[in-house]
Amino acid sequence: MTSEGGYHIIGGGIVGASIAYHIGRRTNDPVHVYEKGTLANETTKKSLAFFGFYGDETQYRMKQYGMELYNDFLSSPRADPGYVTTGRLNVATSEEGAEALRQDVENRNKRLADADGKRVDTSPVDFAEPHELKRSLVLPFLDTNTVTGGIFRPQVGYLRPREMAIEFIERARDEGVVFHENTTVTDLTVDDGVLSGLSVDGEERTADEVISAAGPWNPRVAAMANVDLPVKHTLAPVLELEPAEPIQYTIPWITHRESGFSIRRNADGRVLMTHHPPGKHADATEYDPDAVEDSVPTDLRQRGLDVLESLLPVTDTFDVVDERVGIRSSTPDGNPVVGWTRVDGFSVAAFSTSGIQLAPATGKVIATQLLDNDPTSFYEGLSVSRFDSYVDHK
Ligand SMILES: Cc1cc2nc3c(=O)[nH]c(=O)nc-3n(C[C@H](O)[C@H](O)[C@H](O)COP(=O)(O)OP(=O)(O)OC[C@H]3O[C@@H](n4cnc5c(N)ncnc54)[C@H](O)[C@@H]3O)c2cc1C
Repeated sequence: MTSEGGYHIIGGGIVGASIAYHIGRRTNDPVHVYEKGTLANETTKKSLAFFGFYGDETQYRMKQYGMELYNDFLSSPRADPGYVTTGRLNVATSEEGAEALRQDVENRNKRLADADGKRVDTSPVDFAEPHELKRSLVLPFLDTNTVTGGIFRPQVGYLRPREMAIEFIERARDEGVVFHENTTVTDLTVDDGVLSGLSVDGEERTADEVISAAGPWNPRVAAMANVDLPVKHTLAPVLELEPAEPIQYTIPWITHRESGFSIRRNADGRVLMTHHPPGKHADATEYDPDAVEDSVPTDLRQRGLDVLESLLPVTDTFDVVDERVGIRSSTPDGNPVVGWTRVDGFSVAAFSTSGIQLAPATGKVIATQLLDNDPTSFYEGLSVSRFDSYVDHK
């Protein structure tokens, strides 16, 4: 067994990179990141990478820290992650859908009124009838005869996710963190609820702390420590379409309430479409991430193209030029599972979507728990103990 101690992070996506950065800048102990492939090349690379203000209070507070950190990174970037503000337009095409959107705005306003001055959500958000959309936004391609209503959130944009992960990686390397590519963690050693080591490509090492940031592989890694994660999966297909003629306008992130299809326009002019069905965690399942192929199932592809064409008729001349399939993780309440588990020395950072936006705060929470023994103000909202009878470490 190699005597090592220190902090060992499993997974070199944006979440593992952020954890490495946040721990590395605060300790002189060894910090290692193990990545079974190449860095930031799995879910992180496939992401549509929106960053903006929507979600519950936990997510808002996490995003505020993230926005601050990304502003710092963007002021002296190492890898050109960019940021394009697009806004987010959530549209409905049925009367029920429009009513549901109206209700969303009403509920949100009620929540804010009840927050009694402690509100964090400051987006100017309102329900708009189709004719109001046409009078208030530059959206020449949207078929406002098909749309029955919409909500526009201005404080939303997207970035290059792999490059943003590299921002963390380069800064973590400056702090002495060692990243090991093509290196797989194959087992964890746990005795009487205490983790003492890990196997790296079959070689055993001692460890003070192991953190699983293994994306859709998290349930599998956690099982090595006998921890059950309340995490399931849904498929996240992406089609890239190329317009016959370049589009000269910014297109917001348009999401279609009824079907769950959404699009955004890339800086290179391509339009990206994905599917995030409005289902529940109970409908999600567990996939083997190594067995999911990068071709979008034919029926899903056709449904997506039909929805897209009905919202933006101009897209009937667009060609599909690329495609991929990622995996979105899902938890019962839609927020990630971050921090200590009932196994001493084993922490997790498992996502329910939004990992690009929440990675910064996740790194900070893990570093604060492990280095200061402080659960942080996010504990109630993020700890795995919120779901069952896990013994906590407070
Ligand atoms: C199509 C799509 C659209 C999305 N859109 C958005 C969005 O708009 N905004 C947003 O914020 N989020 C979005 N997400 C979610 C976001 O991309 C993810 O939450 C985030 O990338 C998760 O990062 P991660 O580091 O946890 O996982 P990953 O990037 O998957 O990294 C985990 C890494 O762990 C490695 N690994 C696994 N097991 C082992 C092992 N045993 N040993 C060593 N290494 C291992 C894997 O190889 C992998 O590289 C989207 C996701 C998809 C798929």
